[in-house]
Amino acid sequence: MIELRDIGKVYHASDGSHRALNGVNLSINDGDIFGIIGESGAGKSTLVRLLNLLERPTEGRIVIDGDDITDYSGRQLRELRANIGMIFQNFSLFQQRTVLQNVMFPLEVRHEPKARSIERAHELLSVVSLDDKASRYPSELSGGQQQRVAIARALANQPRYMLCDEATSALDSRTTVQVLDLLAQINADLGVTMVVITHSLAVARRICNRLAVIDEGHIVEEGSTADVFANPQSKVARELLEWGFEGIDDAAARSSAEPSAREAQPQSDFPSEKQSAASQKSQHAEEGEVAHG
Ligand code: ADP
Repeated sequence: MIELRDIGKVYHASDGSHRALNGVNLSINDGDIFGIIGESGAGKSTLVRLLNLLERPTEGRIVIDGDDITDYSGRQLRELRANIGMIFQNFSLFQQRTVLQNVMFPLEVRHEPKARSIERAHELLSVVSLDDKASRYPSELSGGQQQRVAIARALANQPRYMLCDEATSALDSRTTVQVLDLLAQINADLGVTMVVITHSLAVARRICNRLAVIDEGHIVEEGSTADVFANPQSKVARELLEWGFEGIDDAAARSSAEPSAREAQPQSDFPSEKQSAASQKSQHAEEGEVAHG
C-alpha cells in the first residue's frame, strides 16, 4: 500500500515560488488501478513523480507498506525505483537502441547476464505482443507499439507498481483502448498496482477502480470510479463529467456553436441523466467498436 500523508510541494521557479500540491492525503491499495484525474496544471504529474521520488515533497511523508521512503537515497532509492515502473506520454524510448535493447536496458543496469537479459526481454515483448518487432528501432514503430515497448521495459524489473503519466494522451482512441486493455491485463495477470494519471474521463472509466480528483494541488474528491461517475461531489468532477467524454475539438465546437444547449439548463451544473447516459452509451459503442473491431 502506498500512503501519501499531508503532502505539500512548492517549486522555486525563476519567477518566484509556486505551490503545486497542498495537504494531499491518499492511499493506494495493492491491486488497485488508481486514477488521478484533473485538468492541466492541477498537480497530477507532480503527485505521481513523488511516488518514485523523481520529485521530493516539501512537506509530508510518503509511506509504502509501512516504510517511510521520503528520505530514501543511494541503494534504497535504486531498489525503490526498480520496484516502480513508469511510462510517459512521449514513450521515452532510447532512439539509438533496438526494441530488444530498450527492454534489456533495466536488466543491463542490474548487471544481469546478457543471455538471460535477451531471453527475458523476448518474454516481455511477447507479453506486449511485439516479439516480432524486436530488431526494429523505435522510429520504425507506431505510437501504440512504442508505448507497448515502454510498458515491456517498465516491467523488466518485475515491479509491484507502475506509474502511467498520461500514457495514452498521444495516441488515437483505438490505440488508447488497446494500451489501456493491456495495462488492465497486466494488473490482473501480474498483480501490478497501477497509478494512472489522466485528464481523460474515458481513460479513467475504462480501467480505474478508484479515482482521486485533483484541482489546484488539492484532492477534492476520492472514491470508487463508479461512485465518482454516478454521484460526483466536487465542482471540478462535475465539470469534467459535463465536458470530459468528448474530444477537445468537439467540446470547443459545442461551446461556440451551441451555447443555447447549456443556457437551456441554467438551474443545474450536472449533465442531465439523459445527456449523461447518451454520452456514456456513445462512448461505450465507440469503445466496443474499437475493442472488438
Ligand atoms: P499536471 O500534471 O496536472 O498538468 P503539474 O504537476 O505538471 O500538473 O504542474 C502543477 C503546477 O506546478 C503547474 O502550475 C506547473 O506550472 C507547476 N510546475 C510543475 N513543475 C514545475 C517545475 N519544475 N518548476 C516550477 N513549477 C512547476
